[in-house]
Amino acid sequence: SHRIMLGPLVAAIDQGTSSTRFLVFNSKTAELLSHHQVEIKQSFPKEGWVEEDPKEILQSVYECMERTCEKLTQLNIDISNIKAIGVTNQRETTLVWDKETGEPLYNAIVWLDLRTQSTVERLINKTPGRNKNHLKHKTGLPISTYFSAVKLRWLMDNVEQVHEAVVSHRAMFGTVDSWLIWCLTGGKSGGVHCTDVTNASRTMLFNIHTMDWDPELCKYFGIPMEILPRVRSSSEIYGLMKSGALSGIPISGCLGDQSAALVGQMCFQDGQAKNTYGTGCFLLRNTGAKPVMSDHGLLTTVAYKLGRDKPACYALEGSVAIAGAVVRWLQDNLGIIGSSEELEKLAASVGTSYGCYFVPAFSGLYAPYWEPSARGIICGLTQFTNKSHLAFSALEAVCFQTREILDAMNQDSGIPLTQLQVDGGMTSNRLLMQLQADILCIPVVKPSMPETTALGAAMAAGAAEGVSVWSLSPEDLSEVTSEKFEPQINPEESEFRYARWKKAVEKSMNWET
Ligand code: ADP
Repeated sequence: SHRIMLGPLVAAIDQGTSSTRFLVFNSKTAELLSHHQVEIKQSFPKEGWVEEDPKEILQSVYECMERTCEKLTQLNIDISNIKAIGVTNQRETTLVWDKETGEPLYNAIVWLDLRTQSTVERLINKTPGRNKNHLKHKTGLPISTYFSAVKLRWLMDNVEQVHEAVVSHRAMFGTVDSWLIWCLTGGKSGGVHCTDVTNASRTMLFNIHTMDWDPELCKYFGIPMEILPRVRSSSEIYGLMKSGALSGIPISGCLGDQSAALVGQMCFQDGQAKNTYGTGCFLLRNTGAKPVMSDHGLLTTVAYKLGRDKPACYALEGSVAIAGAVVRWLQDNLGIIGSSEELEKLAASVGTSYGCYFVPAFSGLYAPYWEPSARGIICGLTQFTNKSHLAFSALEAVCFQTREILDAMNQDSGIPLTQLQVDGGMTSNRLLMQLQADILCIPVVKPSMPETTALGAAMAAGAAEGVSVWSLSPEDLSEVTSEKFEPQINPEESEFRYARWKKAVEKSMNWET
């Protein structure tokens, strides 16, 4: 059989909260040639706890790689054309493993997990003026359950095996990128223990000005620095794949998922922004070479550093904990839909929430409130309300939360966004996209190739020194087509609904008192 001739190919591992994917792109056209996806199990062992199995995560990566390679072979595409692999991952999720046995010492504690709420409250109470922004000047982040340092502290205090491995110098800490890169490059026999600056910037142990681990922050959380991975740029050769069909191929890109989406959407200019709708929802705006501190509850984070000698770029970020997760909840906990696709039909059948407002503060509220004690609330119910209205209010909740972070972003920068670039699993819901344009009163623009997160990681890998098959210039991707959703309701109506939403949010924060 004849083989199709293509330019160099670049692959990406996209390890998200709800699934793992492996994708292969043509570096000449950014065309997605093949991919495979595997769902990841989440366990909720106690109220507020969210865990995943590190070995299942690793296994899912191998499975996706194998299946994608099979599909490429069926397409007559030679897998030896794959020149580099990039990694992008759910951020903040925390793992500890034993470097001698290669075994994880506990499940991965997922970013949404709330078990550290009392630790966080204790830490905040000890700061002068009970200030959750006590460490923000170094980290860009408020003290919160969200970030890795408190999760790691919990593991050291509560899991005997972790404690023992730390004192006997056998422990390795990492976020999902570090775990995967270490395992894929050889694990206990010579695996590379590293992370990139974007993932490091979500731990609360990393100084976003010096761009390195900060001894004072490590001391503050009681974390021994020897268990931390080495911090590298987002685009350089970290190591080579050690086994399987892709053995010998360099792993040369690494970006937290939200940074990867920013790169994949080509937001390289100061002021450009994108919003990604997955399990949570994350709006990032590039602020260039300067870390900008928010006065409105946003995070300051490292956007990317595309090469060892390249400058770091920063972003302002609005993080929403629950977006797609509310869809899973309606499906798994209430059973009012059989699949996420059914939600759109159900909500569209009424086209209104009929005055019902749903604040899904399941994991407290993130930006702009950072209130871990907030809890979910549904209000405005009448005898008339049915499951379709509830479905509609769940979609609206995602849009209102985005409006809150967009408003904060506009206030911080003083320059309002005139349109919003979007991506992520939930953007396949067209009703959601239209509602979003209506509630923001600006157009929403969605690329026709939805896998922008993976594309960003692949681009970083392909552009690395020593690989250099991708130039990262926007002209390369000028073929990329998109779809635009224009606002269709009048701004007064939009304001009215948004004001009601704000009232509901207030109640979600004060319902106990
Ligand atoms: P992650 O990277 O966080 O794993 P994805 O970008 O893969 O997330 O998006 C998956 C999320 O999107 C899931 O929470 C799922 O419920 C939601 N989702 C997928 N399709 C739809 C849809 N048509 N309507 C609403 N939500 C959807």
